Amino acid sequence: MTFVLKKKVSVIIPSYNEEKNIGFLIEQINETLSNTNYDYELIFVDDGSSDNTLNEIKFNAQLHANVFYIELSKNFGKDHALKAGIGMAQGDAVITMDADMQHPPHLILKMLKYWENGYDIIYTYRQNSNPHAKAYQKATSKLFYKGINMLSDIKLENGTADFRLMDEKVVKQLKLIDEYEIFFRGIIKWAGYKQIGIPYTPSKRHTGEASYSFFKLVKLAVGSIMAFSARPLYLVTGIGLFFSAMAILYIPYVLFSYFAGYAVSGWASVLATVAFFGGLQLLVLGIIGVYVGKIFMQSKHRPNYIIRSTNVMSIKNVNNDF
Ligand code: UDP
Ligand code: MG
Repeated sequence: MTFVLKKKVSVIIPSYNEEKNIGFLIEQINETLSNTNYDYELIFVDDGSSDNTLNEIKFNAQLHANVFYIELSKNFGKDHALKAGIGMAQGDAVITMDADMQHPPHLILKMLKYWENGYDIIYTYRQNSNPHAKAYQKATSKLFYKGINMLSDIKLENGTADFRLMDEKVVKQLKLIDEYEIFFRGIIKWAGYKQIGIPYTPSKRHTGEASYSFFKLVKLAVGSIMAFSARPLYLVTGIGLFFSAMAILYIPYVLFSYFAGYAVSGWASVLATVAFFGGLQLLVLGIIGVYVGKIFMQSKHRPNYIIRSTNVMSIKNVNNDF
């Protein structure tokens, strides 16, 4: 008899107020993966939920030996919850996906095929026709991807999702990343490796509401762009240079007007110029300020997340007192 060690797949699921989705998602993933030749584990990261999500996960962890929980000490945001899960995953491949069924589990089989064919990263992006998005959501999402592609050094497909498979060697590198704000969709593109994107049509959220408010999204968008490029700084420097050049050209005209004796008229143009340059300076200072703030936060080297409790038994975990 030959004994073949099965490959292990870790599925990481960041979960914030998803009490009604946990059981359903486990069922769906089981349906997808139980007939394959892989060992798999599901690691749910409870990102400081205020509903019954954690108990729901713990309950399922008692029912299924391959379901695990990581309880964060508060809500750290999805990307940091993902990092917590990735930090403890031990699979030969690691898959990240949402808890709300918007990421169709059957795509995992397609990802695994690509992985077996030698790809290190298989990421997904929403097809243009997302049937469940509202008009304003489509517009803002498009604007975000346009903005990040124009202002930073990475190129993301419209609607790139946090639904992806990564080989163990990629995960090993991701665990080393020490950034105050992590934006995985960008990091993955930046990381290189042999990667491929596959389009998908998102399903409707199983239950509950998407948890990102408009302001949280704006903060995320600005943060993500600035985390990937200093290009906005170069851009404002360019604008500053352009207007300085204009001002220098303007001075001879002012001097000429003075000596020609009709200098008093024109307070409106002076006021307009002062107001305009005042505004421009504030904008430039603001952008520089945001970068300085980020350097300040980064210099503290705080962890991206704190684990309150977990039942994941990893080598790393053995040394910690949870
Ligand atoms: N999520 C999280 N922490 C948060 C917000 C969301 O872990 O602070 C999880 C959420 O439970 C879900 C995934 O991230 O599994 C995507 O969130 P959501 O469906 O609210 O956003 P969408 O991307 O669909 O707009
Ligand atoms: Mg969702």
